Amino acid sequence: MFLDRGDTRKSGARRTAPVVAPVIAIIGGGYSGATVAWHLAQHPASAGNQILVIEPRSELGQGLAYGTTDPDHRLNVPDHRMTLRSDDPLHFRRWLASDQAPRLPAGSALLSGDIFAPRAVFGRYMADQMAPLLAEGRVIHIRDRVQRIDHGTDFTLHLADGAPIRADLVVLAVSHPAPGLPRELQDLAGDPDLIADPAQPGALAAVGPDERVLIVGSGLTAADILATLERQGRSAPVHILSRHGWRSQPHGPKQAETVAEFSRDPARTALGLLRRIRRALREDAAQGLTWHAVFDQLRSQGPQIWAALPAPERKRLLRHLRALWDVHRFRIAPQTHETLLRAERAGRAVFHAARLVGVEVTPRGREIAIRPRGKSQITRLAVDRVILATGPAHGSVIAENPALASLQTQGALQPDPLGFGIHTAPGGQAIGASGPVPGLFIAGPLARGTVGELMGLPEVTLWAEHIAARVAEALVAFTRI
Ligand SMILES: Cc1cc2nc3c(=O)[nH]c(=O)nc-3n(C[C@H](O)[C@H](O)[C@H](O)COP(=O)(O)OP(=O)(O)OC[C@H]3O[C@@H](n4cnc5c(N)ncnc54)[C@H](O)[C@@H]3O)c2cc1C
Repeated sequence: MFLDRGDTRKSGARRTAPVVAPVIAIIGGGYSGATVAWHLAQHPASAGNQILVIEPRSELGQGLAYGTTDPDHRLNVPDHRMTLRSDDPLHFRRWLASDQAPRLPAGSALLSGDIFAPRAVFGRYMADQMAPLLAEGRVIHIRDRVQRIDHGTDFTLHLADGAPIRADLVVLAVSHPAPGLPRELQDLAGDPDLIADPAQPGALAAVGPDERVLIVGSGLTAADILATLERQGRSAPVHILSRHGWRSQPHGPKQAETVAEFSRDPARTALGLLRRIRRALREDAAQGLTWHAVFDQLRSQGPQIWAALPAPERKRLLRHLRALWDVHRFRIAPQTHETLLRAERAGRAVFHAARLVGVEVTPRGREIAIRPRGKSQITRLAVDRVILATGPAHGSVIAENPALASLQTQGALQPDPLGFGIHTAPGGQAIGASGPVPGLFIAGPLARGTVGELMGLPEVTLWAEHIAARVAEALVAFTRI
């Protein structure tokens, strides 16, 4: 159900006495916000409460990842690991087999039985899960953007279009900002041939087949962009640049699980952890297992591993191993990988391991100066378009999102020390200038500094369930007042 300003007033969201029925406002209705709302709505403590989700997009549950309409933008995780309920791993798989699901494009299912569906299909799944809650009015979608939040004994949300909303409990689920422009490319700011946010609808539509393209970044976003450009037709090459030249690794074979164990007596230093990983990789290789088994284990034991590392060791780990971790941990969908290899074999995709040095705008196009890894000489690439695939600039999310910036000004929010997003307590509350802020919770990847690995959907789901449970506890406390 979509509720406009008038309906909000009619429904009593602003007049309800907080002691009787506290108002819960979830800001951001991407996957995290929708999943918190869904779990909270199932919780007995929330019966009779309004759960408001403020999200400018037309559908809840899509956000940046699942709002794409491009059929070549696929889930990079097989269907049986994509679920909104951690207690029901096959929930999405069963929905895919149901009458509600759309027909999947050819090649979505592999011989192994794994399905890598377009991400838009997962967006449909989420919309389907939210539909009954919206229809019953258990969850209310306010299609607007929060511009400012005043924090006192409660919260007042100021919207871009609608009247202010008073809330007792607030969940921030705003996650992914646009990518930041690298310092070396600042001269391209405002250039019409710079595609600074490729996730914007139609952002790649105008890229002609004969235009020389540079994609900055070589991870999953770059692979998605290449898949779109390949479908549109290419004759000129696409240059794909990153410091190491690494790209996301493909999935491994079906195999036994590793016996490697990282959560019992976890490492206290980055070096200690690295040594244990290396030993586990050697032992697994001797058993005929690929590296995937160790990385899967690291992922599932991530929260315990992360919690055991003191702050300086976390920083060290990120500095030395983050790029390597990302390409092994975030694996590419087999279909997207195939497209990438085909383009590379045909010379339409060229990978560069190099640092950006600068850019010059000339009559021949944009000349990008790069320094290839291990070389002192500078090389120049002449291109017609530059596309940023460096990923969301989480480090500047507070400055970029006025709603977050307003809370920071009031001392109710601060960046996390690792530059991942928002400083968050293990319980999920924002940590302000004077400690955890009662009633203010952080859902989604912006809490990564505290949780550790919190980007892929399985981890985001667990954290959303955790946040829903904490909000439910807070509701019980309200009712007792
Ligand atoms: C491109 C991409 C592809 C991915 N693919 C996969 C995958 O295949 N498998 C997997 O396991 N994981 C995947 N992930 C990871 C994971 O699923 C996402 O990180 C997760 O969806 C996070 O969702 P979110 O709701 O926290 O954030 P977002 O998707 O960023 O949603 C936040 C929402 O908040 C809204 N918002 C922001 N500011 C305001 C405001 N002031 N007022 C109101 N609303 C606001 C935005 O409109 C947005 O819809 C992918 C991530 C990305 C970015």
